[in-house]
Amino acid sequence: MLDRLPDLVDPIAFAERRRELTGKIKIKEFKRLSELLADNQGEILLDASFYKSGRLAIIQGKISGELTVTCQSCMSSMIWPIDIGINLGVVASLEQADLLASEYEPLLLEEDKISLLELVEDELLIALPDFPRHDFECMESKYSPTELPVDNKQTMSENPFSVLAKLKNTGD
Ligand SMILES: [Zn+2]
Repeated sequence: MLDRLPDLVDPIAFAERRRELTGKIKIKEFKRLSELLADNQGEILLDASFYKSGRLAIIQGKISGELTVTCQSCMSSMIWPIDIGINLGVVASLEQADLLASEYEPLLLEEDKISLLELVEDELLIALPDFPRHDFECMESKYSPTELPVDNKQTMSENPFSVLAKLKNTGD
């Protein structure tokens, strides 16, 4: 366990050496994510293994922890548990991403190194629902069901194109 994860890593070199990385990232270091949270104290744990499958560099592991979000029904803060499995195939182009086996999500390598901070933050942003709500009727008398915001967590997490769309948007 590392006290502080390196931010920039070379995933190809790490895969060739079969590196394992386990460490924590302070939630407040995720600037984009912090804006969406009720509280940005605490840490997120990354547990990642780098290895090769044929010529492909793979990053496999887990992102876990707890985020404090605001329930969009009653506006009180609530804990949103995070337990994300990652299985990333490192690709150099969108063409390679298209050819990737479906078990892997493409991770587009635009420079020699990737930012672990950005990688984890992107995964957390995808995992976080737009309208987090308690899973019980915390505000049953105040709103009729039709006035509650639509929960699109499902569409976010099940859309296989969201990662590719994100890749396409990060090009310089
Ligand atoms: Zn609530």
